Amino acid sequence: MPSEFDLIQRHFSRTAPNAVLGVGDDCALLQPGAGMQLAVSTDTLVADVHFFADADPQKLGWKCLAVNLSDLAAMGATPRWATLALTLPEVDDDWLAAFASGLYGCADQFGVSLVGGDTTQGALSLTLTIIGEVPPNQALRRDGARPGDEIWVSGTLGDAALALAALQGRVTLTDADLATLAARLHAPAPRIDLGLALRGLASSAIDVSDGLLADLGHILSRSGVGAVVEYAHLPLGEILHDYTAHPAFDDCVLSGGDDYELCFTAPAAHHQALDQIAARLSLRLTAIGSILAEPGLTVRDAQGQPLDIRRTGYDHFAA
Ligand code: ADP
Ligand code: MG
Repeated sequence: MPSEFDLIQRHFSRTAPNAVLGVGDDCALLQPGAGMQLAVSTDTLVADVHFFADADPQKLGWKCLAVNLSDLAAMGATPRWATLALTLPEVDDDWLAAFASGLYGCADQFGVSLVGGDTTQGALSLTLTIIGEVPPNQALRRDGARPGDEIWVSGTLGDAALALAALQGRVTLTDADLATLAARLHAPAPRIDLGLALRGLASSAIDVSDGLLADLGHILSRSGVGAVVEYAHLPLGEILHDYTAHPAFDDCVLSGGDDYELCFTAPAAHHQALDQIAARLSLRLTAIGSILAEPGLTVRDAQGQPLDIRRTGYDHFAA
């Protein structure tokens, strides 16, 4: 069995072009751009909680970085560096090689250098810390939503949750549909370009990791405002359209996690600018509701009637 040192040498010591000093010393040395603020976030993925222990290690490597990049996207930050704390039950070189190839694939795509980490033995768990940069006062925070702002969401909702429901045997999908949706679950695309484009336009932003209502709820409580969301406006992918009558549908769309889209608010005056960003990025952006002064979150159906959102497992504003 190789030592921890060999393992790091073999799998996690690629050059770190963004760093003054990368993996191999007691600390990495990083040089932020002049005048930039650092945006820092950590996420842990635990086997059998956040992913299946027998998950494809290459996809896991991608996802482990991608979910952290999604947090940077939601701040409007540019990705720069990452560190990785890896807890492994055993040293499996094939598994590690595949994991590293997924991780570095995502890192290369988004200009991130892996600059350090830690390696320990125990139940499989992956903790990644991401560091990005953002000019002062330009970060997209959760506390800036104002009454009258429109609420937007990128991409489509519920895809990852429907894939998970299928993998858990709660829904039956065709093989082709499952393959399409599973890609959304296992290989999320962090919306970095969108986050950067939203600087100066969005009043608040969050990434949809725990479900639209829960995550929008965080914006509302941090901003001290309420919202109304139009159910009929929620963006659905082609496959989801076929499952609107399924009992799990509302849950997937309103409370399904793991889509890693951005939910953001912006003054209505920016509507056209946002449509132009959607066209430029070839990314669907949909206005789904508006911010109200009065706290509380209402989802209205096509007839304008409020939906009972408690049954979707949403309890953010429960008494
Ligand atoms: P120390 O005992 O000083 O913490 P380690 O032996 O844990 O040093 O790590 C040696 C070097 O390898 C350090 O630069 C550390 O950041 C890096 N490192 C350790 N584990 C990982 C990992 N899983 N991924 C990337 N770098 C790692
Ligand atoms: Mg160490």
